[in-house]
Amino acid sequence: CGVFGVFGYSDASSLAYYGLHALQHRGEESCGICTVDVENKGFHYHRGMGLVKEVFDQPKLEGLKGTRAIGHVRYSTSGESQLANAQPLIFKYRDGDLAVATNGNIVNAPEIRRELEYQGSIFQTTSDTEVIAHLIARSPKDFVSAAKDALQRIVGGFAFLIMTNDKLVVASDPHGLRPLVMGKLGDGYVFASETCALETVGAAYVRDVQPGEMLVLDKDGLHEDRYAPLVRRATCAMEYIYFARPDSDINGINLHSARKRMGSRMAIESFVDADIVTGVPDSSISAAIGYAEQTGIPYELGLIKNKYTGRTFIQPSQELREKGVKMKLSAVRKVVEGKRVVMIDDSIVRGTTSRRIVNLLREAGATEVHVLITSPPFANPCYYGIDTPDRKELIASSKSVEEIREIINADSLYFISNQGYVDAVGGNDGEINRGMCMACFDNDYPTPIDAESEKSCSC
Ligand code: 5GP
Ligand code: SF4
Ligand code: MG
Repeated sequence: CGVFGVFGYSDASSLAYYGLHALQHRGEESCGICTVDVENKGFHYHRGMGLVKEVFDQPKLEGLKGTRAIGHVRYSTSGESQLANAQPLIFKYRDGDLAVATNGNIVNAPEIRRELEYQGSIFQTTSDTEVIAHLIARSPKDFVSAAKDALQRIVGGFAFLIMTNDKLVVASDPHGLRPLVMGKLGDGYVFASETCALETVGAAYVRDVQPGEMLVLDKDGLHEDRYAPLVRRATCAMEYIYFARPDSDINGINLHSARKRMGSRMAIESFVDADIVTGVPDSSISAAIGYAEQTGIPYELGLIKNKYTGRTFIQPSQELREKGVKMKLSAVRKVVEGKRVVMIDDSIVRGTTSRRIVNLLREAGATEVHVLITSPPFANPCYYGIDTPDRKELIASSKSVEEIREIINADSLYFISNQGYVDAVGGNDGEINRGMCMACFDNDYPTPIDAESEKSCSC
């Protein structure tokens, strides 16, 4: 998912609209914007299923009055694709309102939810984001203290925007698993999952919101606080590998450049001689350019993406996912015919997409197809908000590289090494994995995970 927040800028809803549009790749299923009108302190909101440009139009945005806003784009996983789960979630809170937008997943949501239900809470959605609202609402403390307590209670990977009629709380989980940045626009503040959204609205990047940080904005401005100490930064590796847009920077690292370095590292670790190099669009084009630069093998546009289809993994069912691939990609016959092709992709999850793409290239006349993957084998599920199937559906959890190669019908298959990946991203050498979570590769989860931990993501 993606979140976008505005504090202290006229026409906040239009700004949120453009910001969310820039974050559309993070979730195409539903979206929403909630604003607060500082004069009468009233909430205005609109949510809908579909893309930002479909859900909002000029009259709707004009109705969302105010200088403060939080917005959300969502993708869901396990069939919970419904309007009730569209965010921001809005609640009546004391004499006013409360709105919450989250990117990520609360691992201990089932446990907290059950406890609150026994105490009388009635949940309106199946989204784990609702848990934080109940924790805040049940606390006798003032909003900011209650939010702090609630943040200390939850475990997981999340970026939160929590808004009341007079305050905005912005928080990142204690490990900074999900990206979140702060920008400045005039006298106002802007918050976004990715820097590309700051660029889109013309806001200046100020800094990344730090792990365990809790920022409070009110009529007196910005107050910087923490609810948890920084023990271990663990930003999601999959954000660097494919999820975030290449023009975004995470922790100061540009993603196009990092992906290029992953490609050139692949060329050093697993050189394959070939006639052309092609990347699976869009996420692997940068890495393919890096491989081409390192080896001198020409980069070619061997695959074209139809830009009017969404990212395949966002579509909920396997059946749709399988249908989606043909809608989405075509091989360029005149480019690949008679050629030995190096095909770079970001990950192999189930193996079905990779197999289809390899076959597309073969059907278009490629004589050899060598697959190079810029992530290590994805063998463990994610509990922190990246949509991954159960362990048993993760092909790398039970199959060797050679077995996967055979399944996807490639002439050869290589994955980047863990160290190669970490070096390619860069980042601070003094931190574990240079400040990244790599649990889906190395099984080292930065938070406790127990049998009950919620696998699916709310977002
Ligand atoms: P596969 O070969 O596993 O079917 O698909 C791999 C490609 O699809 C990768 O490019 C990856 O970005 C995307 N993908 C497909 N399914 C998922 C999924 O469930 N989660 C994630 N993170 N990516 C997926
Ligand atoms: Fe990202 Fe993998 Fe960690 Fe999940 S387990 S947060 S996908 S690196
Ligand atoms: Mg892909």
